[in-house]
Amino acid sequence: MRLKILDMPPASQERYLNNAPPALYRGPHSSNPCGSCGGHCCQLMVALTTVEAFRMASAMSLAIEAFAEAVVVPPALLATFRVPKIPLAQGPTVIRLRRHPETMLCNFLMNVSGAGRCGVYSLRPHTCRLYPYNLEIDGELLKTGSQNLCPTRWLQTDSAIQPVAATVRQMRVDHRAEERLHKAWLKAGGQARSWEEYLAFVTEKLKTHFPLPAPPPAPRARKMGAAWWKPA
Ligand code: SF4
Ligand code: SF4
Repeated sequence: MRLKILDMPPASQERYLNNAPPALYRGPHSSNPCGSCGGHCCQLMVALTTVEAFRMASAMSLAIEAFAEAVVVPPALLATFRVPKIPLAQGPTVIRLRRHPETMLCNFLMNVSGAGRCGVYSLRPHTCRLYPYNLEIDGELLKTGSQNLCPTRWLQTDSAIQPVAATVRQMRVDHRAEERLHKAWLKAGGQARSWEEYLAFVTEKLKTHFPLPAPPPAPRARKMGAAWWKPA
């Protein structure tokens, strides 16, 4: 694989579209820019593959719909999303992480004593891992999102390429698995079927790799005010 990092955010007051603290965009170039920024990019829409969604759901013991939702991609935006689109009756569809309805920030962004941190850091999707790089992979351009959201100055070091290359390799493996899933889905008449049917289909296909939690049992009714423990 031939991989080149084309550019990183140089960050200037003019380029940055939101209200980042001035210290960030005037600061020195940093090799750990995210440490001081705390997630300005977590307002981007993060599309992920079915395989990534199942990996996260299985590891967190959550239903996929607890943290992600399906959205139909309008024809004009098809090229914007790099993940393979799911062929459904409603149209080509992608899965995206849910965001807080008011702040529009990713539901996984945590406030840790005032610092913004990703609550699923080791499980975060490839899009999050690759932002804010613009890359050239085997001659093809990959943009992960507008660098204007990134307020810090990035120091480009030789060691930056290694984690990026590992992410790109894993992303390719996931995309191939995703394409195989879509092929099987199409063979089963998926083009005319719904999102709910797709979820049931892939849950069955992926159950040995990424088992999902059983739905929680209905809460048992308890009389209000009755003691639920007995003193010794
Ligand atoms: S990638 Fe940029 S915007 Fe996102 S957390 Fe790091 S420094 Fe902040
Ligand atoms: S998964 Fe983590 S890194 Fe990605 S948008 Fe959400 S909080 Fe940010």
